[in-house]
Amino acid sequence: MRLLISRALPDRVMAAAAERFELSTRDLDAPMSVEECRAALGEQDVIIPTLGDAFRAPAFEGVETPRCKLLANFGVGYNHIDVAAARAKGVAVTNTPGAVTDATADIAMTLILMTARRAGEGERIVRKGEWGGWAPTQMLGLHVTGKTVAIIGMGRIGQAIARRCHLGFDCRILYTARSDKDPGFPVERREMKDALAEADIVVMAVPATPETHHMIDAEALKSLQSHAILVNIARGDVIDEAALIDALQAKRFAGAGLDVYEFEPKVPAELIAMEHVTLLPHLGTSTLEVREAMGMMALENAIAFAEGRDLPNPV
Ligand code: NAP
Repeated sequence: MRLLISRALPDRVMAAAAERFELSTRDLDAPMSVEECRAALGEQDVIIPTLGDAFRAPAFEGVETPRCKLLANFGVGYNHIDVAAARAKGVAVTNTPGAVTDATADIAMTLILMTARRAGEGERIVRKGEWGGWAPTQMLGLHVTGKTVAIIGMGRIGQAIARRCHLGFDCRILYTARSDKDPGFPVERREMKDALAEADIVVMAVPATPETHHMIDAEALKSLQSHAILVNIARGDVIDEAALIDALQAKRFAGAGLDVYEFEPKVPAELIAMEHVTLLPHLGTSTLEVREAMGMMALENAIAFAEGRDLPNPV
């Protein structure tokens, strides 16, 4: 059975894939173009795609009956795949939930702490040789312990962030989701507007869908308190990036911590120019252990398909 893995994965995953499948890989670390996706749908039995590979509707147009019957996505977010278009052509889609949860929650904590405590700015000052020594009023940031944190999207990752904030930092947790949650410690559900207005720290943890596109827009940003910080570990387009830049430039709130960008990997020069913004290059799941676990999970879905078993992680 033919398997295409769209980007080089850790060695252990590649070796396991080569043992089980007739494996093709790409030399590029760049996303697959629509043309590449279309060709692969015609030639492969299974594809393991990942972030940015162009499996939206145009990839499925013109492929009458795809040879490929499974897109076993490497990653929990699959907004680069049009699941309905895939399904209409008989192509199933799976993802890698769970494997990414803790690592992504850890990056949310990194961004909360770095942004609240101005760590990026401080590091730049030290590296530039501009630090004049400790001073009582030097670089005062936001104290994190005991603050109110609003988590927008209280699924696997949102709850892992809530747990860290509540159990590790004594924070009060507000959240927005489509349904009630009981993670085993006190959390309070709010309408998003109310959560934004009440929180000291806001963390975005929703999937990118048509409903969540620009859910944080200029109007929503007006709800934030002036001392608040906003963190995004979800997907770039859940925040209107242009509106975010305007609000940050106007210093309407204290700062932002971003792991993801609306037009990734393009990071606007305006964001780079602002000291009260922490910018990470989509590091959410980037540890060897986690990338191996994600790869093995994607592969388990591919093997289940090859053996005619139920897919473990359908979306
Ligand atoms: P999940 O378990 O499916 O949780 C998603 C949460 O968002 C759920 O609580 C859901 O509410 C809520 N939600 C969905 N649509 C909503 C809407 N329209 N309004 C309000 N809430 C909504 O997903 P997850 O595993 O936590 O992952 C979340 C996202 O994180 C992924 O989709 C991915 O894009 C992103 N991610 C980023 C990185 C990174 O490297 N930065 C890594 C992994 C994942 P209900 O529970 O009520 O349905």
